[in-house]
Amino acid sequence: MTPGGMDGTALAGLREGLAGEVIVPGDPAYDEARTIFNAMIDRRPAMIVQCESQDDVSRAVAFGRDRGLRIAVRGGGHSVAGMSLCDDGLVIDLRRMRAVTVDPGARVARVGGGAVMRDLDRATEPYELATTGGRVSTTGVGGFVLGGGTGWLDRAFGLACDHLLSVDLVTAQGEALHTSEDEHPELFWALHGGGGNFGVATSFALRLHPLPVVTAMLLMWRPGAGRHVACAYRDFLESAPDEIGGGLLYLTAPPEDFVPADMVNKLACAVIVTFTGREQQARSIAAPLLHLGHDAEMITELPYADLQCMLDDPPGYRNYWSAEYLDAFPDPAVNLFCARATDMVIPSPSQHVLFPQGGAVARGPADYPVPWRRAPWIVHPFGLWEDPADDDRARRWARATREDVRPWSSGAVYLNFIGAEGEDRVIAGFGPENCQRLTEVKARYDPDNVFRLNHNIKPRPA
Ligand code: FAD
Repeated sequence: MTPGGMDGTALAGLREGLAGEVIVPGDPAYDEARTIFNAMIDRRPAMIVQCESQDDVSRAVAFGRDRGLRIAVRGGGHSVAGMSLCDDGLVIDLRRMRAVTVDPGARVARVGGGAVMRDLDRATEPYELATTGGRVSTTGVGGFVLGGGTGWLDRAFGLACDHLLSVDLVTAQGEALHTSEDEHPELFWALHGGGGNFGVATSFALRLHPLPVVTAMLLMWRPGAGRHVACAYRDFLESAPDEIGGGLLYLTAPPEDFVPADMVNKLACAVIVTFTGREQQARSIAAPLLHLGHDAEMITELPYADLQCMLDDPPGYRNYWSAEYLDAFPDPAVNLFCARATDMVIPSPSQHVLFPQGGAVARGPADYPVPWRRAPWIVHPFGLWEDPADDDRARRWARATREDVRPWSSGAVYLNFIGAEGEDRVIAGFGPENCQRLTEVKARYDPDNVFRLNHNIKPRPA
């Protein structure tokens, strides 16, 4: 018998029919194949099926389902709770399915289910096209888009899921479906925020926008200026045009030439401004922030794909993050937010973040299961640290940040920004009014809850 209780013949049969590979404990590639972004997650699957085609995915789903194995689906591996990995079961690893093709005339990208943002952004860059991506280049397009998808471009263009034209999906029955507004429309609706609950997405068609250049500004202050900067940032954003994205954050000041030596490796307050256009216009719009008198600055025009790599977080750190969506960010909330930054583990890649929404995010389709799109602000403690001795402190800081701002909470939750925080948070993530509809879609396409390693929707007949 092999690990997981399979007989060797069954495993050999699976291997035989696959274009990809099956990796099991003891194989030289096993440890790399079971490593994900969050170094706190150390799980040992019985097998990792590295799929190369939709047919491979169908075979892997059927194999796992018929043997009652837990099935995890792995895209970019960025789930903070490690939902793309399981102990003992079967991992469907999509990392070999990363091809992206672009139709510049139609402004459409076709993206493999295991592609990461970098694959998508580098493929669209030569055509001066782009779509809303995450804020780093290493996040999987799959988990990101299926959960909703927010990033530097969302105020200008909308959420990533607003750009879905179609999704190719392998269901729990191993059946390959093409979903769009016209084909399996209820399932297509559920894929706009419902996550990996309904099957394995093997390909996405995404709408693109012309975007020849973006401007990025990183302005930094010593932390004592934080409250003043945060209030100014809030006031600026409340009337900023949609083309402005970015965020306010506390971070460890990096050892870069533009950072004064006495600030390096210490807590700093920063504002990131992104603009979907030229630097001159960005400077003029952001004048209220530029006139605050910062301690360090980096301002540049660059292709969007380069912006996406600028803040790439290193893998191999321990992770804990959470988020709270706010209806307002008044002065008392600012005070609490700024005070709590001092509890963050420093130096580390952790970030104590406030992101704005509004613009095209708020104006997007109201009925998708992403009710958090209407909140104007997101507080997002994003903890990355190295030493296990800091685990408790880092988790306490993130939870306390969330609790501090709860009086202003919109009640909604973006599930891609949190780990496993309980069923109430999952319901709040999809929106109580969407849950019945989602459970009906789940009952139709995954009645046995084969795909349950996610922010789970339990199947319930209509
Ligand atoms: P995985 O861990 O591979 O998967 C996460 C979940 O999605 C799992 O349940 C998995 O089964 C499912 N899944 C993945 N691919 C598929 C697929 N093809 N078909 C079906 N199910 C699938 N989010 C934002 O919105 N904006 C950001 O700016 C942002 N920045 C981030 C930066 C970092 C450094 C990290 C670690 C995360 C960030 N996130 C951001 C959160 C991110 O969107 C979620 O963690 C997302 O789930 C990651 O998707 P993934 O494919 O990388 O993850």
